[in-house]
Amino acid sequence: MNKKRLITRISAAFSAALITLLCAVLPAFAGGGEKEITVEPIAFHNADFIRGMDVSSVISLENSGVKFYDENGRQADLFRILADHGVNYIRVRVWNDPYDGAGKGYGGGNNDIEKAAQIGSRAAKYGMKLLVDFHYSDFWADPLKQQSPKSWAGLYLDERLSAIKEYTASALDSIRSAGAEIGMVQIGNETNSGIAGVTNFDDIPKVFSAAAKAVRDFDPNILIAVHFTNPEQTSTMKWRADWLAQNNVDYDVFATSYYPYWHGSLENLTEVLRYVADTYGKYVMVAETSYAYTLEDSDGHPNTVSEWDNNSGDDLLWEFSEQGQADEVRAVMNAVNNVGEKGLGVFYWEGAWITVGDTTGLSGDAYTQRVNDNKALWEQYGCGWAASFAGAYEPDDAGQYFGGSAVDNQAFFDPSGKALRSLWVFDRVVTYDPVLGDVDLDGEVTILDATAVQRYLVDLIYLKPAAQKAADVNRNGEVDILDATRIQRMLAGFNDE
Ligand code: CA
Repeated sequence: MNKKRLITRISAAFSAALITLLCAVLPAFAGGGEKEITVEPIAFHNADFIRGMDVSSVISLENSGVKFYDENGRQADLFRILADHGVNYIRVRVWNDPYDGAGKGYGGGNNDIEKAAQIGSRAAKYGMKLLVDFHYSDFWADPLKQQSPKSWAGLYLDERLSAIKEYTASALDSIRSAGAEIGMVQIGNETNSGIAGVTNFDDIPKVFSAAAKAVRDFDPNILIAVHFTNPEQTSTMKWRADWLAQNNVDYDVFATSYYPYWHGSLENLTEVLRYVADTYGKYVMVAETSYAYTLEDSDGHPNTVSEWDNNSGDDLLWEFSEQGQADEVRAVMNAVNNVGEKGLGVFYWEGAWITVGDTTGLSGDAYTQRVNDNKALWEQYGCGWAASFAGAYEPDDAGQYFGGSAVDNQAFFDPSGKALRSLWVFDRVVTYDPVLGDVDLDGEVTILDATAVQRYLVDLIYLKPAAQKAADVNRNGEVDILDATRIQRMLAGFNDE
């Protein structure tokens, strides 16, 4: 039998049936939650629009005993759960040396090159690329802090630029060697006021250029991102793009943080990003956003969004609920997409930084005991935002206020590690258009597609959501062996409709 003609016939028949069936199919993938969230799909200009997540703390959490589950209570690798729910890119922060002289971790995940390599390789296993977020510091870099790594202290500028180049190349080599698929590199984190200990605005662009050169030399296909914050300071943000151009900084992506509590309107966000895209032809994206699904704390460390803080609600568009959390993510994606084809995507910040010991409902001695247990884990594994050991490097902030997760109420997992319904936003914003049976998404239904289902079922390969939806040919909401059989029967000319 002519394979091509058969395939055409199968495709046509299934495509026709697909339009009417799609609405019936999708809810079946939504899991077992009683109350589903609703998400209006977005017509993305960029077919590969990034629906990313930063989960840098995950290894320190797992070391502390945290486990993750899908919404049906099945334990699974966090990265698989994220991929199954439509997350398609992972971001990881990297600190040069987040340890004190005795080898004690500063916390915040103790995210060094080794952690990034592990995270990147696990992401790759589930089809997700990696954004490597170099802070060029030994601990948190943000608008207020851009402290030099210990080992670069006292270096002259030229020596520092050489060190940055060598470090960047070496780190990327280690991360890729572990199996990560590095798609993008961020040269500095929220670099409003400096980078790598350099705060002179004549010298900062030289640091960017040194880092960018190292990335280009390593692999010219990797996107280079610069990252700032405070997009609500509209003219200042536009000026940054002008300043980068005047200094001939080589980069591909202009990224900003966007936390709706502090960072102005979505319309302003779109305007700022559109200016950079239209004026300089750069990709633009949101490198960090997040939103609270509850105002409850669950680990004994105060949250950045709580009953007492950021809760006036006057200028917030969404309620603090799973639906509100999903709505915020969709709205930020939509604001970036509104820029046009240069709108590259959105990363959610630390969407899995949950408690290492649930304090919900506890009081008195039981609460105190649980918090003390958590403190011990934060110190031992670095799974809180900072451990006391960070005080040696950063005495004024981490040294005073070290502790646990300040964003456990902004995660997509409840305190037990179970996925929230809101996690589905990453999948539901996309309109899938599967050719049923075309599991490898090459445009044809062949025996290889039946084989792919079989290999997926024994964990030899992973199928992304688009492939899973194409594989569910009997449309029962699951990919199972019946689908492989059905594809074989299709190829043999049987019509099981
Ligand atoms: Ca907390």
